Amino acid sequence: MSEFLRPELRALEPYVPGEQPVGKKFIKLNTNESPFPPSPKVVEMAAEAAKRLQLYPELDGGGLRGLIAERLGVEKENVAVTNGSDEALNFIFKAFCSPSSPAAFADITYGFYSVFAAINGVPFTVIPLRQDFSIDPKDYIGIEKNIFIANPNAPTGLTISQEDICRIAESNPKNIVVIDEAYVDFGGVSAVPLVRKYQNLIVVQTFSKSRSLAGARVGFAVACKDIIDDIYRIIYSTNPYNLSRTNLAAGIGAISDEDYTVANCKKIAATRERISAKLRGLGFKVTDSSANFLFASYPGIGGKTLYEKLKERGILVRHFDKPRISEYLRITVGSDEEMDILVKNIAEIIDSEAKI
Ligand code: PMP
Repeated sequence: MSEFLRPELRALEPYVPGEQPVGKKFIKLNTNESPFPPSPKVVEMAAEAAKRLQLYPELDGGGLRGLIAERLGVEKENVAVTNGSDEALNFIFKAFCSPSSPAAFADITYGFYSVFAAINGVPFTVIPLRQDFSIDPKDYIGIEKNIFIANPNAPTGLTISQEDICRIAESNPKNIVVIDEAYVDFGGVSAVPLVRKYQNLIVVQTFSKSRSLAGARVGFAVACKDIIDDIYRIIYSTNPYNLSRTNLAAGIGAISDEDYTVANCKKIAATRERISAKLRGLGFKVTDSSANFLFASYPGIGGKTLYEKLKERGILVRHFDKPRISEYLRITVGSDEEMDILVKNIAEIIDSEAKI
């Protein structure tokens, strides 16, 4: 740390992304990427766009903004296109949260919420999930804070109902309610139609997971026009060209091939259910995930030990050394072949531990 760092940033604990190994080849089930490559349309359109990289990209998400709006049945003015959904979340913190307008989110949820709160100087309240990791909607009724809910939640994969989202939005009219739908395409129900009704609701989605574009960085926020204008105020005060020409073209390629996305999501959901059943058969506790990952623990072998043993065998999963979930692993749903190798290795580890 240099002597020049702003004092208020000295205690900041940056977000820790999942490992991105270079060199050794792992079966990589640790950052919820898609096992499938992007649609051929993505490759074609990004390559074409690369020919014009001497020019700044289009502003306001270019043609992608309208295509997202069309796909979701909202107006272009209801959509802000961002560099991954992390950027949307950061800009939402910047635009709407402050010391006098604090944030609230669950104790077990996406780890970036607390980091965005910290870097933007926003105080926050952590609301514990129930014992079974579900959200108790009552905890969010009329709390007068800006609420961030991942639905499906990460890393549990559990969902909250539309009725509960409505009650939460209605009871906090002076604050924003953000529904982070990074994983919604794998089995959740989107709150996008609710933005017409609730002027304080913001839905955030990403192209990173269901559209196989984690490497491109494309996300977006959907809300009433005034909120979207506010987000663009931040974009234009930070980096008006927040998505490169190639990002935007990749996004357009992906959204023009919805059949491909839908088919991949179906495959991932089917694999998730098949592997959940297998893990349960081996004695694992597995949450009812609606996302592209499983959240599972095995009585008798600690989460960290299992993570390390899988890593030794060339399989990377995610372990969070945090209260309440340190016995669990978050396992991205990969291809059927990858998941079969995972199950085989887990069964062998269990066997060898039993012999000790
Ligand atoms: N929200 C949640 C719940 C996530 O798990 C992630 C992925 N780490 C994101 C948002 C951000 O994804 P991206 O920036 O790739 O769109």
